[in-house]
Amino acid sequence: MKLIPDRTSSGLAVLRLEGACACRNGWAFVRRGEYDYAEACRDCGSMRDLAGRFNAASLPAWAHEVAAGWSDDIAPRSAAVDLARRLKESREFGRTYFGDTGRGKSWRACAVATAWLDAGGSLTWVTWPAFVNELRNRIAEKLGGIADGEAKS
Ligand SMILES: [Zn+2]
Repeated sequence: MKLIPDRTSSGLAVLRLEGACACRNGWAFVRRGEYDYAEACRDCGSMRDLAGRFNAASLPAWAHEVAAGWSDDIAPRSAAVDLARRLKESREFGRTYFGDTGRGKSWRACAVATAWLDAGGSLTWVTWPAFVNELRNRIAEKLGGIADGEAKS
């Protein structure tokens, strides 16, 4: 069984599992004494886990190219891995990149995202316009709620 980089028709990067495993959907049963215990499959469990977290992250389709493009570039890759480690150790809670269009902010953020996923983390990829739109909607909801509350009292 192996992971195949793929993309959805809606432009998201996904990892698909290809091949067969003797387990049952990532679970293997191990006999201990009189009982059978379900354990994550040692052959495919970690791949299924990574695929699940990767696919839930909603990374853009070009995310697969980031890892491939940086495979020979030690410095940015180790920086991404270092940030992923700092996030995991809760020494940092996030990172924001500022800069002109086309300077590689998204590319770098995506490298950090994939390193974070490789380190066992989870994330959701959100674009700036979508983030601002979400903020606007939440503020509008709050203001609407306050306005309704004030009208009643
Ligand atoms: Zn398996």
